[in-house]
Amino acid sequence: MSTSTNATTRTTPNTHVAAWAAPSAKAPLERTTIPRRPVGATDVRIEIKYAGICHSDIHQAQDGWGEGIYPMVPGHEIAGVVTEVGPAVTKFAVGDRVGVGCLVDSCRECDNCKAGLEQHCTGGNVGTYNAIGKDGEPTYGGYSTHVVVDEAFTVRIPDGLSLDVAAPLLCAGITTYSPLKHWGAAPGKKVAVIGLGGLGHMAVKIAHAMGAEVTVLSQSLRKKDDGLKLGADHYYATSDPKTFEELAGSFDVIVSTVSAPLDFGAYLGLLRTGGALVNVGAPEEPVSLNLFSLIGGNKTLAGSMIGGIAETQEMLDFCAEHGLGSEIELIRADQINEAYERVLASDVRYRFVIDAATIN
Ligand code: NAP
Ligand code: ZN
Ligand code: ZN
Repeated sequence: MSTSTNATTRTTPNTHVAAWAAPSAKAPLERTTIPRRPVGATDVRIEIKYAGICHSDIHQAQDGWGEGIYPMVPGHEIAGVVTEVGPAVTKFAVGDRVGVGCLVDSCRECDNCKAGLEQHCTGGNVGTYNAIGKDGEPTYGGYSTHVVVDEAFTVRIPDGLSLDVAAPLLCAGITTYSPLKHWGAAPGKKVAVIGLGGLGHMAVKIAHAMGAEVTVLSQSLRKKDDGLKLGADHYYATSDPKTFEELAGSFDVIVSTVSAPLDFGAYLGLLRTGGALVNVGAPEEPVSLNLFSLIGGNKTLAGSMIGGIAETQEMLDFCAEHGLGSEIELIRADQINEAYERVLASDVRYRFVIDAATIN
């Protein structure tokens, strides 16, 4: 039994639910059973319908970022339906369609939490998986049938979005929406997106919906037709050195979604004077940069990590309003390991989503 501080408000005992977990780093994921805490006063219990596979799941399951906690149940792109609410819950009712992203808790008191930047909580936020909750227990993610989450970290999925194509928005959507908004993607602005994978394809859709002129910078022209259908105006192969000559000094904003180390100096050359390259990719190795590529042209190299809870809701509402869901390949749970291989081979079109009905 957990030692959570709100144990007195709990209505039911721990339950055990089916899940898929990595038993150790590098080991394939396999079916298992995990505990879910009882529903506390401000908790909702969610029957998971769909869970997206983010490249971050693979980095962590394979311990590429270090300090992995095993067994690990990945999954921070969760879409489902509320099946139980705690007595103090005010935002949600049984039957509501909801989502959970990368965070399930934070200190709620620091300046960042108060500013809606829970992802940068200085008191330490709690990740949806591969983290230790305030109750001292490991958190387990969305590759499972049910999850119990505080309503403060639960968002509403608008009626206009189907749950399957909405699931990836909980990470890929917010991680691209937040920097595109912050760095001013809008009519009259030229935005480039490096990498047309899970994050990249949402960046293209969202930047296009924000009114920007969008260019995809992909390793090859293999996915050009798709990129143009998703809303890109232009599509270039970065394997062709002529791309870097032709596009020199072109963009106001570049968003890199690449999961591997990249030659940022070359890409900074594609910015206009005063432009910004925002990196959201989280490669396992460091990169080196000649700082002259930043000084010349007063350029900015920035980073961005997911988004806060209020902004995640704002992003979902924006996507519903503009009819933006993820392009998905729906898979059974027993296809997760194969999907990981395909993501690692840049063979994802454009997000694998697990049908949680196949987890049992
Ligand atoms: P993904 O679906 O695998 O997409 C990454 C894309 O990058 C690939 O489809 C590929 O696109 C391109 N790429 C891969 N290897 C490359 C290489 N060696 N050189 C150049 N391009 C390469 O991954 P994702 O789920 O979108 O995640 C992307 C990265 O963002 C991961 O590192 C993930 O951990 C990170 N992430 C960060 C945040 C955050 O908060 N900052 C949130 C979520 C994910 P092309 O085939 O078009 O070249
Ligand atoms: Zn993610
Ligand atoms: Zn905080």
